[in-house]
Order: sequence, then C-alpha cells, then structure tokens
Amino acid sequence: MELPETNRYLDRTTPTPLIPVRLDSSGPSIWCKLEFLNPSGSTKDRIANFILSKALRRGRIAPGDTVVEASSGSTSIAMALASAQLGLRFVAVMPENVSRERRLIIESYGGEVVFTAKSEGIRGALQGAEQLAEERLAYLPRQFSNADNPASHRYQTAQEIIAQIPGGCVDAVVSGVGTGGTLVGLSLGFADFGCHVASYAVRPISGMCLDGAECCSFSGRIPGVVEGLSTIYEEFRRGEVVEMDVDDEEAIEIARRLIRQGFPVGPSSGLNYLAASKVAARLGPNARIVTVFPDRMERYFSTELFARR
Ligand code: PMP
Repeated sequence: MELPETNRYLDRTTPTPLIPVRLDSSGPSIWCKLEFLNPSGSTKDRIANFILSKALRRGRIAPGDTVVEASSGSTSIAMALASAQLGLRFVAVMPENVSRERRLIIESYGGEVVFTAKSEGIRGALQGAEQLAEERLAYLPRQFSNADNPASHRYQTAQEIIAQIPGGCVDAVVSGVGTGGTLVGLSLGFADFGCHVASYAVRPISGMCLDGAECCSFSGRIPGVVEGLSTIYEEFRRGEVVEMDVDDEEAIEIARRLIRQGFPVGPSSGLNYLAASKVAARLGPNARIVTVFPDRMERYFSTELFARR
C-alpha cells in the first residue's frame, strides 16, 4: 500500500498563481489566489497534506493506518488524495445526499465512503466520524478544530502570496468561512511579515433579507461556507475581524461571470470575489486586496451554478 517516496509530489508542486482579476474595465482589481489549481481541485489539498504529513512525522500515525474525516465537500476529496499519496487508508463520512461524483472520486483514490442521514446534515456526519474512528482505532484530523489547518495556510499559502504580491504586503484579506482555516491562517501569516492586514469574513445572506430587513439569515447556498462549526474561527473572531454580509444570488452570478472569463470556479469563489470588490470600494484603488478561488466548477454541474435560466 505504501508508495515509493519518489512518487510523492504533494510537497513539490509549484505555488498556485496569484492573479489581479478585474471583471470589467471600470471595476477594481482583486488579487485572487487560484487554489482550484491544486491537485485534487481545491485549497483543501493544503490542509490534507500538511495535517497528515505532520501526523506521520510526529509518529501520531504510521503508513497503513486509517484516517476518518467528516466532510461533504472538498476536504474529503483532498484527504482521499493525500492518503493515497502517503500510504494511508481513508474513510469519508458524509450525508447520504452528496453527489455520485463525489463518492466516485473518493473511491477511485482507494477511499471508502460511509453515509449518515441526510436530515442530520454535516453535524450528523461529524458525530458519525467520531463514532467510526473509535470503532476502527482511526485518526481523526478534525478540520474544524485542528490547529494545523490554519497553520498550513499561515506557513504555506500566506508565504506564497507574500512572495507573489508587488511590494510584499497585503492590506486586506477576504474569505468565506467554513472551518476558518483559510481566513485565520492567511491573516496570521500576513501579520507574521509585519503587514497591517484587515480581515474580512464573508457571510452569504439570502437576498430578501438584506438592507435592514429583520430575518437576515445565513444562506446555505454556498457549499463550503457554513456557520457556527469552527472553533478555529470563533477564537480568532474575538480579535480584529470584520464580518460582511453579501447576497448569495449575486455571489453565484459572479461565479458564472468568472467562469465565462475562463476561471473554472465554484460558487464560493463568486462569494469571495463579490465581497472583495465591496472591500475595494471602501479601501480605494491602491489597497492590495487578496482573496481565494477555493475550488473548481466541475464539482457543481448538478447544482444551480449551472442551472439554465
Ligand atoms: N469554499 C469551499 C469550496 C470550501 O470547501 C471551503 C471549506 N470547506 C471554504 C470555501 C472555506 O474555507 P475554510 O474551511 O478554510 O474556512
């Protein structure tokens, strides 16, 4: 099961590009990190390789051991790929309504998929993973609370960005929050370099609730962006972070426009870009604003991103 060392490429890939993206000639220029170009198609390759390689180096796990993670999305696909590369067994625990493609991708890397009830959502999967890990004596990366999740972005993604951006500093970082690893890790990483960086956490909101209406609820329409699950983000939130609400419908439309310009992104990239443009309007044309395009459009063929209107 263990691969020859020479087959391992995850630590040897080149940095993902950082591109100044403009949607139209009068719009702001936003520095976008093209994380959909990571090997499994999302930014979660960062945390999967960092967390599992570190656990192996520390002797916390050994080749042939089993890793169990709850995720309905990119993390389980990234963990399956990293496990294949590192000679580990992988089990994804996910709600039963995830797409057939997701299951097939994980299984094609040699992973196993265990389903939990659709009605219990991601929380049911998290509980299921705890139980299964106990039964199988498996390692649980626990992406929502593992400090190595933000550390992967602090010590790797942020370093790449600093090396790529003109002037070597960032003025603002903008991202939707799932585990919070991206926003927290990048913010800490930029601060390590002495940059005075403003951090913006983006909340997708259902359109009719904007503009002072009372209902204002968090939208579940942007996969990967969830509320209230992350201890990583909750700790960071006590410090300097601005929470920004943006319209989910508009976010999905921006993702479609990015795709038409040749960026093969998912809905959360539209969310991030839309929010970053609003930050640019506040901070002015000279601010260096960074955001992330977390994953690829191919994951969303069966969703409203591709719905014919
Ligand atoms: N976008 C997508 C597509 C994601 O899968 C995730 C993470 N689940 C995020 C954004 C948010 O990233 P993070 O977990 O680092 O907060």
